[in-house]
Amino acid sequence: MEVFTTIKEVRNFCKKSKSMGRSIGLIPTMGALHGGHIALVKKCREENDTTILSIFINPLQFNNKSDLLKYPRNTDKDLEILKKHSVNCIFIPDAKEMYPVPDERVFNFGSLDKRMEGHFRPTHFNGVAKIVSRLLQITDADRAYFGEKDYQQLAIIKHLVKNLNFNTKIVPCPTVREKDGLAMSSRNALLTDEQRRNAAVISEVLKEASKKTGLTVQELKERVCRKINDTPGLEVEYFEIADGETLQPAVYREASENGLVGCIAVKAGEVRLIDNMVF
Ligand code: AMP
Repeated sequence: MEVFTTIKEVRNFCKKSKSMGRSIGLIPTMGALHGGHIALVKKCREENDTTILSIFINPLQFNNKSDLLKYPRNTDKDLEILKKHSVNCIFIPDAKEMYPVPDERVFNFGSLDKRMEGHFRPTHFNGVAKIVSRLLQITDADRAYFGEKDYQQLAIIKHLVKNLNFNTKIVPCPTVREKDGLAMSSRNALLTDEQRRNAAVISEVLKEASKKTGLTVQELKERVCRKINDTPGLEVEYFEIADGETLQPAVYREASENGLVGCIAVKAGEVRLIDNMVF
C-alpha cells in the first residue's frame, strides 16, 4: 500500500497505473473511517484495478471553526484498516498541498444547493466542489465513489462532473447503517452514550414515515419533526421531502417520476447528524 502526501506522487502513481491499462477508482474521504467508507472501498475494488482513497479534512467545506477542530481524526487506525482491505494507494495531503494559493472559484449548482444542507451551510458545497474537482483532476479516475448518505452532495457532484466534462463516472453507494438503523458517520463518535441511543429514532421515524400511506407531504413532515423533537436531546434542523433528482420540495407524494427522498438534519447537542430515505 502506497501512502502519499504530495500531488506529484499521486499523479505519477495514477499515470503509471493508466499506462499499464489499469483502471482507477477514487474514494474521497475525511478519514475516521467506518463501515460506510469500507463499503465504498469494497465496491471500488470490485470495479477497478487500482483503488485510491484520499483522507483530507477539507477546511473549505466547514462553516464553523469549532466543527472543523472537533472533527474526529484517526489516521493511524485508518491506515491499518485500509491495509487490511488492500487499498493500493492512500493520499493524505495537508491544506497547503491541496490549496497552495487560495481557490477563489465560485460554483453554480442552479437550484440544487439552495435548500437543505446548502441553505444551512451556505459555503459548504462550494468547498466540496473545490476539493472533489481537484482530486478528479489529480487522479483522472475512471470511477469515483460517493455515499447516498450525503444525498444532496451526491446530486451536486454528479452536476459538477457533467458541467466540467470530467471523464470520471460517479458511482453512488447505498447508506450503511448501524444495527439500530443509525446511518454510520464519523460524527457518531462525538455523541454521548445517551445521544447515541436516542439518535436511533431518526432512521426509525424516517422508515416508518416512508412506508406510511394516506398522509400528505405536509402531514408526513409534521409527523417526522414532532417524533424526533419529542426525543430528548434531539432537534430537527430541517426535514424535507424532495424530488429524487432535482431536490425540489415535493408538494404531492405521487407527483415525481424521479421518486421522492426524505432528507433530514438533526442536532444532538453540538453534533449534527444527517440522513435520508427514499419515500
Ligand atoms: P466523509 O468521510 O464523511 O466525507 O465521507 C466520505 C464518503 O463516504 C462520502 O461519499 C460519504 O457519502 C460516504 N459515506 C459516509 N457515511 C456513509 C454511510 N453510512 N454509508 C455509505 N456511504 C457513506
